[in-house]
Amino acid sequence: MVRLYAGIEAGGTKFVCGICDDRGEVIEKAQFHTEAPKETLANVIRFFKPFEFTAMGVGSFGPVCVDKAHPKYGMILNTPKLNWRNFNLYQALSSAFPSCAIKLDTDVNVAALGEQRFGAARGLTDFVYLTIGTGIGGGVLIDGKMLHGLTHPEMGHVLVRKSNKDLEEFNGICPSHKNCLEGMASGPALNMRWQVASCSVLPKDHIAWEIESDYLAQALMNYVLVLSPQKIILGGGVMKQIQLFPLIRQKLKTLLNGYVQHQNLEEYLDDFIVPSELDGDAGLKGACALAIDIQDSLANS
Ligand SMILES: [Zn+2]
Repeated sequence: MVRLYAGIEAGGTKFVCGICDDRGEVIEKAQFHTEAPKETLANVIRFFKPFEFTAMGVGSFGPVCVDKAHPKYGMILNTPKLNWRNFNLYQALSSAFPSCAIKLDTDVNVAALGEQRFGAARGLTDFVYLTIGTGIGGGVLIDGKMLHGLTHPEMGHVLVRKSNKDLEEFNGICPSHKNCLEGMASGPALNMRWQVASCSVLPKDHIAWEIESDYLAQALMNYVLVLSPQKIILGGGVMKQIQLFPLIRQKLKTLLNGYVQHQNLEEYLDDFIVPSELDGDAGLKGACALAIDIQDSLANS
């Protein structure tokens, strides 16, 4: 009999639930709009009830407590989504599925895990996954493990200097920092900056993409300098604008100015900064990978 695993990509706008087999193939999948916790959990539970599984992986929007030893493990912290603030997602799922082992991490760390097992980071141990969409967030694997530290990285909120091509008085939209990377380069920042309903309507040769790639390249330079990743994977709605990739690579090279010497940062930048290979499924695939890991560790203990 095929063993089944449960995965949840718990996002701020949608919850994606899936059942996969031991190779990470998704067999059943459904997605629900993120309503209040009670309604959302009711949908999640209804989806999973018909299946038999003993391990569940969850990639959650944040900030979220990912310290397994902490009493708040799995609790959504100071999110702007007020009805989710202080809601413990891990506990709610544990009470709904009491015989199931559950592990939870940030949505971006889990997406990074998905890319490592099934996508653009196969075979790598140290890399960054950055998503640029409604918000900007980054997941990191170091030595094959998801990076946590004191809480978890918040890579979307690094500071960037104003692009010299950005002549307008746009000061950023991050409620906490205004002109951090997310404040200057997220989808909503682009929409606000260029007064469009969606940045996808901007022409491919619009100056917006020059400026956007400058902000992203600045952040990537910092990640390269601090984390020394083997690769950086860029996903999320904004990165559907594939004209950004060559612009970001070229600007990163210019910014680094040969300081970090490695052929991947010179001749092979096309393989160093790459799109996600999982077409929006990195979160769910990573959650399934997390569930498979739990099962493996139970089997080995
Ligand atoms: Zn910020």
